[in-house]
Amino acid sequence: MKPPFRPATIAAQANGQINTATGGTVGPIETSTTFERDDAYRLPASGDIYRRDNNATVREAEAVLNALEGAAETRLFGSGLAAIAAVMRAAQGPIALQDGTYYGTQKLGEAYAAEGRTVVRFPAGDLDALRRVCAEAKPGLVVIETPSNPWLAVVDIAGTAEIAHEAGALLAIDSTAATPILTRPLDLGADIVMHSATKALNGHSDVLAGALCVREKSETWERILSLRAMEGAVLSSFDAYLLTRGMRTLAVRVAAMNHNAAHIAHWLEAHPAVTAVRWPGLSSHPAHALASRQMQGGFGSLMSFDVKGGASEALAVLSRLKLIKRATSLGGVETLIEHRHSIEPAFTNMPPALLRLSVGIEAVEDLVADLSEGLGAIA
Ligand SMILES: *Cc1c(COP(=O)(O)O)cnc(C)c1O
Repeated sequence: MKPPFRPATIAAQANGQINTATGGTVGPIETSTTFERDDAYRLPASGDIYRRDNNATVREAEAVLNALEGAAETRLFGSGLAAIAAVMRAAQGPIALQDGTYYGTQKLGEAYAAEGRTVVRFPAGDLDALRRVCAEAKPGLVVIETPSNPWLAVVDIAGTAEIAHEAGALLAIDSTAATPILTRPLDLGADIVMHSATKALNGHSDVLAGALCVREKSETWERILSLRAMEGAVLSSFDAYLLTRGMRTLAVRVAAMNHNAAHIAHWLEAHPAVTAVRWPGLSSHPAHALASRQMQGGFGSLMSFDVKGGASEALAVLSRLKLIKRATSLGGVETLIEHRHSIEPAFTNMPPALLRLSVGIEAVEDLVADLSEGLGAIA
């Protein structure tokens, strides 16, 4: 696909890919782990040697995401955390890590700190604090997440990139909750975009995958690629095929989810049993103006809200739900709700009354009716 097509077009046509061997409009699933050399011992035209390095089905999924993010290069990993770990390990020097990111990312930060790596923290979206941290710790890598999971903090990507670059650091951003449909961080100055492709990119809760997209190739990128191959943090061909299939509908899914999320966020905000709603599309969100500038065409499907009371009230609400699934993860076509306090370690200070909601594409009236029944548990 040559002209600068819009994201919905790139996604629907899977970046124009075709099965060149048969003319099939859907790529084949490359199942081989090994590839034959010719009688002069030359590699086949694909250049492939062994599947741990790469293969055609994975490259096809990478090409779709690469075009959506406007990246120089994109690589898929066996999970989002494998991708994030590769970035943190490949970058040199101290890591400056935003507070309140996805808790797996925080746990990685703790683990590297325990191994002796310098990991410094700064509050989400506090650019002055980041400036101080950069001056003191001289990080080689700044890691942010926007909107963050499950706090829904929105961080100024362009402002953060400027500070990171002045300090000589790379900026990596976990853009899982935004998807390339709502934000293109590389255009705003980020160096590396990280995704849990398990979430909205695939969108059907049946693939575990991670992705990294870079603005330009660098020594750090070379180290990331060699870590992926050496340690085998690769995606299976079948999962790559499913991911490409999932991404074909990314734009329409994100639009439908945004629409439902907007309705539900406003409805929750007006509900007497709800004391707080965190969703960047609400004018009550502290970074609503920034989110409106930075996120294009919607504010995402992830939100969290606090119910009146504490953990037992939150769990009572969940126990009455008949439609919305009590399950972790986010970004799927089905609506999921979760009590993070029950599963996160104490160090994350997750509020006992907080429920995290990932809004799907169901009829919004059905979702509201279910939430209404659930919240009826609180007098
Ligand atoms: C789920 C998630 C991850 C981790 O991805 P996996 O694919 O589960 O390894 C990282 N960041 C965010 C924001 C997530 O929601």
